[in-house]
Amino acid sequence: MARERKMADYSQKVAGSFNERMRLNRVRRRKEKLRFWEEFRIIPRWLVGLVVVLFFIAQGVALLVNLTAPERGDQIFPPELGEHGHVILASLALAGIITLVSILFAGFIFLTAYVNRDASRRGMNAALWTILILIFFPTWGLIGFVIYFLIREPLPYPCPQCGASVSARFNFCPNCKCNLQPSCQQCKREVAELDKFCPYCGNDLASPQPPNP
Ligand SMILES: [Zn+2]
Ligand SMILES: [Zn+2]
Repeated sequence: MARERKMADYSQKVAGSFNERMRLNRVRRRKEKLRFWEEFRIIPRWLVGLVVVLFFIAQGVALLVNLTAPERGDQIFPPELGEHGHVILASLALAGIITLVSILFAGFIFLTAYVNRDASRRGMNAALWTILILIFFPTWGLIGFVIYFLIREPLPYPCPQCGASVSARFNFCPNCKCNLQPSCQQCKREVAELDKFCPYCGNDLASPQPPNP
């Protein structure tokens, strides 16, 4: 009986600390100001270049195959336009279709590459997350991305006191011992490092050791 009780307590504790970790993650992540183009730049340049080159090759090959179709006794695509001799219109329509499909493909490739780079810069297992996303995709579509963006860990950030880069998991700065996860003495809720008063209960947070200038 006592053992079962202990197990229940233990799993409750694990779930509790998991929830606490998730909450801290969300608080930290909300402070991250991510800009789309800056985020886009973590995607490797060679990959962006490769996708652009493949796009132009696909356009060129499709146009060539389409225009030489009559010589081979095939129809120009799309057939409705080709039949009536609207060759230029048909070519434009084909180019439009290829562009649409390419945008979808490129979006998926770039998003996967982003997760791969983003996970490693956040200290998460980049290979594992990339594989998970690719495994989920055929059956559940983009669910892997959704899960990733919901639970990804916060970025390392500069210590408010000494500026050294610290992981969001740290409670104290390894360089200057600054308290990185301070909480209000009175209501126990998390407060920001530089708050003078608790935003929830108004408690005076003046720290015993004032920060060095
Ligand atoms: Zn520090
Ligand atoms: Zn408080």
